[in-house]
Amino acid sequence: MDRSRRRFLKILGISTLGVGTISSVDLLAMVGKGEPVYNRTPDALVGKRWALVVDVNKLDEETTQKAIEACHQVHNVPDYGDEEEIKWIWTDKYEHVFPGQEHAYLAEEIEEKPFLVLCNHCANPPCCRVCPTQATWQREDGIVMMDQHRCIGCRYCMAGCPFGARSFNWKDPKTTYWKEHEPPNPTYPVRSKGVVEKCNLCAERLAAGQIPACVEAVKDTKAIVFGDLEDPNSEVRELLQEHFAIRRKPELGTNPNVYYIV
Ligand code: SF4
Repeated sequence: MDRSRRRFLKILGISTLGVGTISSVDLLAMVGKGEPVYNRTPDALVGKRWALVVDVNKLDEETTQKAIEACHQVHNVPDYGDEEEIKWIWTDKYEHVFPGQEHAYLAEEIEEKPFLVLCNHCANPPCCRVCPTQATWQREDGIVMMDQHRCIGCRYCMAGCPFGARSFNWKDPKTTYWKEHEPPNPTYPVRSKGVVEKCNLCAERLAAGQIPACVEAVKDTKAIVFGDLEDPNSEVRELLQEHFAIRRKPELGTNPNVYYIV
C-alpha cells in the first residue's frame, strides 16, 4: 500500500470516529502534502528559515496597536470584544510571556509593559505533530501553516501549542461579525465556525513580494524586523549579532523563530 493511501485510510479512521460530516472528496483533498499553498509571484520573498526580531524597547503602546491592527485588518480577524477572543497577534504581561524570568525586583515598567506576542513558527512545532488531519504543517521555510479547510475542529493543536497562539471559532464569523461589518480585506478569506486560526507569518504577502503586515505597519521604528536566519547578511542576523535577544519558553525545546531584544 503506498504512503498516501495509508495516510488517507488513517484520516478516514479518525473521521469515522468523530466527524461524520466530512465528505470523501474533502478527505482526498486533505491527503495532499501541505506545501506553500500560495502561488508565488516572480517577486515572492523566498527564505530558508524566516524569523522575526521584536525590539521591545521600540514598541510603545501606539506602535504595538498599529502592528496588531494591521495584522487583524489584513487577515479579516473579527473583533468580538469581551465575548470571545480571536487573535493572531496580541499583547500579554511579562510574567506570562517569559515565565520563569520574573523576580521580585523586576522594574515596574517591565512588569506593566504589554509585550507583543504571536505564533513563534517554532522549528520543532508540537502543534503540527498532534494535528490528526495535517491541517497545520510546517513549510520548508519554517512557516507553520494552517488550512481551515482541513481543520476538523478537534483543537489538539491548541492544546499542543505552549504559547496560546491559536484561536477557535466557536461562532460562525460569516453569520455574526461579518454580517454586520464589511471584511476589511476582500482578498483574504473569512473563516467558518469550528475551525482554528492563527498567524501565518503573512505567507500570502510573502508570495506577493511583501513583508508581513505587522512589520510593514511599524517599519519606520524598526520595532519588528523580518528576515531569513539562514542568510548571514540578513537584518535579523545583524540584529541578533548586535543585541542580546531572548525567546519564549526555550526550555520546552520547540525552538521558536521569534526573538525579543529586551
Ligand atoms: S506576521 Fe503577519 S500574520 Fe503574523 S502577526 Fe504579523 S501580520 Fe499577523
